[in-house]
Formats: sequence, C-alpha cells, structure tokens
Amino acid sequence: MKFVLATHNAGKVAELRAILQPAVADLDLIGYTGPEPIENGTTFAENALIKARAAYEHTGMPSIADDSGVCVDILGGSPGIFTAIWAGGRDNVQNRQLLLRQMADISPAHRSAAFVCTIALVSETEELCFTGNWPGSIAFAERGEHGHGYDPVFIPEGFEVTAAELEPEVKNALSHRAQALSALIGYLKTR
Ligand code: IMP
Repeated sequence: MKFVLATHNAGKVAELRAILQPAVADLDLIGYTGPEPIENGTTFAENALIKARAAYEHTGMPSIADDSGVCVDILGGSPGIFTAIWAGGRDNVQNRQLLLRQMADISPAHRSAAFVCTIALVSETEELCFTGNWPGSIAFAERGEHGHGYDPVFIPEGFEVTAAELEPEVKNALSHRAQALSALIGYLKTR
C-alpha cells in the first residue's frame, strides 16, 4: 500500500513512517511536494481533510494528513486550530508565553486542556478521520526539555510533570498523536 503524507515537513514524514511502516505490512509512506492548500477549515478534522484532499487530487494516490493543537477549556477551546500561530507567528516560544500570560490568573481547578490530533485519510473511495485526545492541564510555568511545541506547558492527566518532562517513549505511548495513529493503524490493517 502506497500512501502520500500531505506535509512538506520531512521530519514529520520520517516520524510517521517510523511508526506506521513496522505496524502495517506493505505500507510505503511518501512525502508530498505539490501545492499546499489554504487551511481555512474551522476544526482539526476539516483542516486535515483539506490537506489530505489536496494531496490526493494532486497525486491521485491515497493520502494522509494530520492537524493538531491544544484546546484550553476556559478559553473556549482555544488556541485550537490556531495553536501554531497563537502569538501571531509560528514561534512556539512566543506561543507558549502568550498562553501562560493568558492563564496567569486562572486557578488550578480551571486549567483543564487537551492536546488533540486528527488524521485524515482520502482516497478514491474513502474520506475518513481518526482523532486522539490527550487530556491534562496548563502549567503555571514552562518545565522540561523533551518534546516540542507546547509540551513544556502541558501537564497530562495522571501526572504532575509536563509532557516535556516525560521520557519520549512515555509521551509517544499516550499522546493524542499516538491515539490517532493507533486508530489509523487499526483501520489500515483491515482495509
Ligand atoms: P501541527 O499540526 O503539526 O502544525 O501542529 C500544530 C500546533 O500544535 C503546533 O504549534 C505544535 O507545536 C502544536 N502541537 C501539536 N502536537 C503537539 C505535541 O505533541 N506537543 C506540543 N505541541 C504540539
């Protein structure tokens, strides 16, 4: 089975290839170099589908795309689909600092949040979404050196440390992305 992964991010292709190829027999994941669509959906699923459809339309091959972010309850689900550009640019240090400032006066009881990841699969006969949700809360300050993005400010449910303080293997077994990938793998095995 050959799939296009609808991202220009070579690191993401390598990461997903490393997880998917051993799990699904005969899977070949290739990167996408065609035009990038405007992500003007209003949900993670809509944006993931927009990217997967664009790759499918350009290549004619079954295509996979993901969209992810952090949703904070007291902020009405924001940053949500705007997670990557929350402070205006694509700088995750500034993104995290803005979120910490916005949450500065919020008590521990009201800091609940979740990392969400949706993976879309589009082919001639399929349009499917697989979503993972990793509940937790927003820390009062950055902690930890592992991971990326918002990991230093996210405390997963059941832990007192941030996602950036977890060993990568622990995060990769529990995360929103791991959950969405596990659902995708389950589907691909029966496809
Ligand atoms: P993208 O879907 O890979 O573009 O990520 C969207 C935004 O969510 C970026 O700002 C990422 O840093 C953030 N994000 C997604 N997944 C994670 C995660 O596992 N840890 C920390 N930040 C994440």
